[in-house]
Amino acid sequence: MARIGFLGLGNMGGPMAANLVKAGHTVRGFDPVAAARERLAAAGGAPAGSIAEAVREAEVVISMLPEGRHVRAAYLEPGGVLEKAPPGALLIDCSTIDVATARAVAEAASARGFAMLDAPVSGGVGGATAGTLTFMVGGDPAAFERGRPILEAMGKAVIHAGPSGNGQAAKICNNMMLGIQMISVCEAMALAEKLGLAHQTLFEIASKSSGQCWSLTSYCPVPGPVPSSPANRGYTPGFTVAMMRKDLKLAQEAAQAVGARTPLGAGAYQLYNLFASQATEGLDFSAIMTMIGAKAN
Ligand code: NAD
Repeated sequence: MARIGFLGLGNMGGPMAANLVKAGHTVRGFDPVAAARERLAAAGGAPAGSIAEAVREAEVVISMLPEGRHVRAAYLEPGGVLEKAPPGALLIDCSTIDVATARAVAEAASARGFAMLDAPVSGGVGGATAGTLTFMVGGDPAAFERGRPILEAMGKAVIHAGPSGNGQAAKICNNMMLGIQMISVCEAMALAEKLGLAHQTLFEIASKSSGQCWSLTSYCPVPGPVPSSPANRGYTPGFTVAMMRKDLKLAQEAAQAVGARTPLGAGAYQLYNLFASQATEGLDFSAIMTMIGAKAN
């Protein structure tokens, strides 16, 4: 069992840290929000008053922070992880951030003698709570093997995606597919309705045909066909519009940086931007059905 310093105890980090405690690890966690630290204490972890206090005795440091700028600050600034973690600690950033920042922070870590993994997740708050996340991991193979048992305490699948930054690359590619596919299902549902074809009927046919995808069969954006989908509970998240917009933006930035052609990714980003501007950021991302369905009128 390991001594773990955990940074970022929010919607995802909170339950992930709790699962590490449940697995028998010693977890010392920091979050600037007092309520988040209190939740860690209630789960059996030790709240810390600063990054330095959380990481100073850690064998493994895990971070689950909002964006790239938070990751840069937490690792690189004075009083941050690279200054305060003990030599030999394994550093694992699970936040979803841009590939360039992930690679830059890992390089700075390496220059200070630390091995670092980028290990973003799929599975949302439900997966974080149930310990069934999928981790997509970038970093060198030896560091991956060291990190694997720790990540397995929080997830059902831990997959090595290649060198540093490739975990983030996998995450934004996956979520770009998800955003595009969700819009495709919404457009098909809206068109079907106009053509006099019931949502349920299209669902039954497409879910056994070549239109089948996760956005249809697990997360159907209209009420009815998949009772557990957010459409049946007023589009409460789930995975928010704000997060889908963020991930599509990261995908577009990455595509521009390397000259990849992603016209549908760009279109999905524009549609999620437009939808987010209608005060919908806190809704589940499948709520874009309400805009696409309305547009068809
Ligand atoms: P969140 O805002 O709930 O939690 C982030 C936490 O980080 C906050 O509590 C914040 O106070 C804390 N924080 C900020 N700066 C800090 C610092 N310097 N030190 C320590 N803590 C600090 O966000 P979340 O939903 O938990 O998401 C975290 C990451 O996971 C994001 O990158 C997000 O894109 C990704 N993600 C989220 C989901 C989801 O469904 N929520 C799914 C997959 C991936």
